[in-house]
Amino acid sequence: MVRTMKEKVVYWLTGSQTLYGADVLEHVAAHSEEMASYVSERMPVTVKYLTTCKSSDEVVAAIKKVNADDNCIGIITWCHTFSPAKMWIKGLKMLQKPMCHFATQYNEKLPYDTIDMDFMNENQAAHGDREFGYIVARLRMDNKVIAGYYKDEKTLKRLASWCKVAAGVTFSETVKVCRFSDNMRDVAVTEGDKIDAHIGLGWQVDYYPVGDLVEYIEQVTEEEIDAQMAEYAEKYTMATDRIEVVREQAKYEIAMDKFCKEKGGYIGIVDHFGSLHGLNQLPGLAIQDLQSKGYGFGAEGDWKVAALGAVMQYMAGQQKTGLMEDYTYDMADGLCLGAHMLEVSPQFAGSKPEIQVHPLGIGGKSDPARLVFEGIEAPEAIAVSMVDMGNRMRLIVQKIELVKYPHKMPKLPVAGLMWKYQPDFTTGIEAWIYAGGAHHTVVSAAVTFEEMVDLANAWGLEVVTIDENTKIEEFKRSLIVADSLYAKA
Ligand code: MN
Repeated sequence: MVRTMKEKVVYWLTGSQTLYGADVLEHVAAHSEEMASYVSERMPVTVKYLTTCKSSDEVVAAIKKVNADDNCIGIITWCHTFSPAKMWIKGLKMLQKPMCHFATQYNEKLPYDTIDMDFMNENQAAHGDREFGYIVARLRMDNKVIAGYYKDEKTLKRLASWCKVAAGVTFSETVKVCRFSDNMRDVAVTEGDKIDAHIGLGWQVDYYPVGDLVEYIEQVTEEEIDAQMAEYAEKYTMATDRIEVVREQAKYEIAMDKFCKEKGGYIGIVDHFGSLHGLNQLPGLAIQDLQSKGYGFGAEGDWKVAALGAVMQYMAGQQKTGLMEDYTYDMADGLCLGAHMLEVSPQFAGSKPEIQVHPLGIGGKSDPARLVFEGIEAPEAIAVSMVDMGNRMRLIVQKIELVKYPHKMPKLPVAGLMWKYQPDFTTGIEAWIYAGGAHHTVVSAAVTFEEMVDLANAWGLEVVTIDENTKIEEFKRSLIVADSLYAKA
């Protein structure tokens, strides 16, 4: 099931005032309507012109409507004319959804031959947008500003990205993670303050004893398993004759999916290889296939990665996004091989995945079935980690390049990805370690770097970026500055 965004609405609010007379206001409304519908056709969501605001009461009424509309994920604001910004204060203080200040204009070029003061008064976004921007800055809002002509392809692409972020923020409020165990043994970085995440990001993380899942597993019928096996046969190559082992994974998948739906709509799943009482195998193929259906997954109790993965998968349209783990380096060629015990999402598959059965070196369970494949290539990808710094969550976003395996790895019994770090191998690793970035990440070749930074801003999170411009000394200073800022707050 792919969750689409097109049914989600972004309201377009235009700022003006009564000073210019009814004729100008008619033009303002007509232009806004035309611009919003042009933009809407090119967005992943629906953009609707709501109203032209001319007074504080009108802004308040509009924002109340925006807040109350469950389908609305945010607003685009724009000032066609000048709009005294004191009128926005009350309404903006009430706004509960992301906002993009679109610094655009109805006309692209100036009408050099005919321009007069009537034109100047009717078309003064440059003037009005600055007045509006001041009051937003004064209110310390975490909004997005996009400047550019509304028909320009690059501008539209950036606006589409922001729409995805706004949808992600709203989706995040609905994320529920089902956790079939606590944290793995003494691992530190996968820990975190669940209440803080619930307050700040909307994530509800609930624990269930694995025995509750076992009850569901026991109720799965042979017919249900047959149907799941037929689905596997369509999507994957069966490269094992141990069919019973594969059927066991099918049973887990059906049970987990049903459990998550019946217990209140969980979209994130967390398990732990050391806490599988009543299961013969570590869920491998089951978790991989569930990720391909949009579930976020966190291994070894890592609920942060499960929830972050669910949000990023939604933003990505369930493409090329999922749990990853920095595993082992090729230090000579500056590469990292990322993988996991089993649970790499088939969204990363560069070719048709094979279902294989191999022993699992640790955990003391039966040989589990898993999907094995070589990962995709992608020149622009990101690795994202969320860590709890004690007084806030920190989001770390690093640019990486997904590359082809330089050699075949015939004995590697798991799916993997290989990548190069930005800005280079040593700086990329050192910066990540200085920032406290985890070994579990969500990697995506569909959600962009700018989108993740915007998402962090919309969430009000500290965001640490590692890209082609990162220099270690500057980077370390930026971490010190961030710490001192948070220490004050
Ligand atoms: Mn792990």
